[in-house]
Amino acid sequence: MKSEENGTEPSPARTASCKATGGGMSLPMEKGEMLKIASVITHGNLTEADLTCPYCQKGSLIFSFTVIDPPRYGLFIVCQYCRRVEHFSLGEKPPNFREELVVEEFQRLEDEAHLQALMKLRTLKK
Ligand SMILES: [Zn+2]
Repeated sequence: MKSEENGTEPSPARTASCKATGGGMSLPMEKGEMLKIASVITHGNLTEADLTCPYCQKGSLIFSFTVIDPPRYGLFIVCQYCRRVEHFSLGEKPPNFREELVVEEFQRLEDEAHLQALMKLRTLKK
């Protein structure tokens, strides 16, 4: 083991490129975890959802469905510990959608964002 370490000279170029591909090229692992959690929330078994925050591993995630403009729906996933917020927009009504899973606070955020997006669209069209 030791001799191998001595034998290979670490070239600075190689270590640099390793670092670059490690973070930038592919989807960050946490983001992938979030997507997995989101898919469980939208159409998986909600009772089996693991809601541990992939970013801090400390907090438990809370989520809220939102209604954008049916059939467009949204999903917020928020960590109460590290305050990470993920928003997904869904092209169709998620099978797990229930009115009870819409948190008023997040619906308001969604409405505001939607309104802003609409206004932006209008100014772009001019
Ligand atoms: Zn967190």
